[in-house]
Amino acid sequence: MPNLAAVLRDAEQRLAHSSPSARLDAEVLLAHVLQKPRSYLAAWPAKTPPRDALAYFGELLERRAAGQPVAHLTGEREFWSLSLQVSEATLIPRPETELLVERAATAIRRNAASRVLDLGTGSGAIALALALKFPRLKITASDASTEALRVAERNRKMLGASNVSVVHSDWFQALNDDYEIIVANPPYVPGDDPHLREGDVRFEPRLALDGGDDGLECLRYIIRLAPRRLLHGGWLLLEHGFDQGAAVRELLSAAGFSAVGTHRDLAGHERVSEGRRQ
Ligand code: GLN
Repeated sequence: MPNLAAVLRDAEQRLAHSSPSARLDAEVLLAHVLQKPRSYLAAWPAKTPPRDALAYFGELLERRAAGQPVAHLTGEREFWSLSLQVSEATLIPRPETELLVERAATAIRRNAASRVLDLGTGSGAIALALALKFPRLKITASDASTEALRVAERNRKMLGASNVSVVHSDWFQALNDDYEIIVANPPYVPGDDPHLREGDVRFEPRLALDGGDDGLECLRYIIRLAPRRLLHGGWLLLEHGFDQGAAVRELLSAAGFSAVGTHRDLAGHERVSEGRRQ
């Protein structure tokens, strides 16, 4: 029987043609199968994995080689140091969205805010990261997809975030409260962008990604309606595409927001824009 080092080497080779992160994928999947942290693999390279674990690992490798996202195979993804459950019903949380959490945290402190809305919460990633950081905050996490809400609610329970309420709403439709901060990571990829037909994105819900012809449809709609649910002096914070900063700033200014600005993610891309309701 091969040891862990050999199993990983072989798996990396099998994934080399289909994944840009073959080694990492192999490690994450093997650690998942063995129910150990990834560090275990480096610590015990000479150990021999059990036969049934190897068989299961082989199945997962095959599915990964066919393109399925690692997060769908393990059923989880780390975001803001939280382990979140994910499924085909939601976007897989992305590292750049942590910038939105950081900017929201700054706005919450600055306004001493007590009520926050995460519009289109998906897996609940943003709402839950904020809820655990600010236990006294009341957060509404809404989504139009009932399947996504099931994922968000499961994550909420698992993390014990009693300060989050998960509600069904198509954008603002079923929301009647006013908020001091509204955050959203809406769909913003242009419908004909080839990106939607590549890699992991192919396995994610179109509803969470496709922002219409120019990618700005949902952003435009949210910016137009947000002032109705935002208290005076409250902030709207939005994630958007790397090339949409100028357009989003313009939309925010045209809708009467002040202190409009954009922040760059770790890759240096304009990623989060914000504005204050007068
Ligand atoms: N950043 C994501 C992507 O490029 C899109 C996320 C979104 O539309 N909210 O795949």
